[in-house]
Amino acid sequence: MKKKAADRPIEKVWGFCPRCGAKASKRGVNPFHCRECEYTHYFGPCAAVGAITTDPEGKVLLLIRGKDPGKGMYGLPGGFVDQGETVEDALRREVMEEIGLTVTDYRYLASFPNQYAYSGAVLPVMDVFFVMTVRSFDEIAVVDGEIDAWHFCHPTRRELQNMAFESNRRALELFLKQRSVRSRERGSK
Ligand SMILES: [Zn+2]
Repeated sequence: MKKKAADRPIEKVWGFCPRCGAKASKRGVNPFHCRECEYTHYFGPCAAVGAITTDPEGKVLLLIRGKDPGKGMYGLPGGFVDQGETVEDALRREVMEEIGLTVTDYRYLASFPNQYAYSGAVLPVMDVFFVMTVRSFDEIAVVDGEIDAWHFCHPTRRELQNMAFESNRRALELFLKQRSVRSRERGSK
């Protein structure tokens, strides 16, 4: 993903105390600490969810992103976890909102840290990945304009190198590796 010059880590963008409005005495440190009112703010990651699913032929569902960051590149279904929401509920909600699919089952795959450049700031994110099954791919549709299209494929270097996020690429590589080990194990029995 092309990184614009204006995108800076959130702790460097954070110029004023959100509690009392005093100018930050020092930018770019984590946590932010206000000398005027003692307010302290930690720039920890927010949570997001990503999902891998395959069609009956074993092809992986990739989305083509309709918006920045990563417009035109590949991504996995998913999105940010809302306040008060579980990661599992976010998985079901995001998959429905983004691509119209009903999640019927899922298993945890892995988590990978991510960075999300938006509005001139780069936010730390913790992406939690699941392998999911859905009720029916007949329901697939571009729902909310976050994506332009979908693409079922056996991911090759081309897809892996064009993932919008490093975390998504790592999750996909892990999934493909686990799947190939399982199929080898089955083959050797
Ligand atoms: Zn303050």
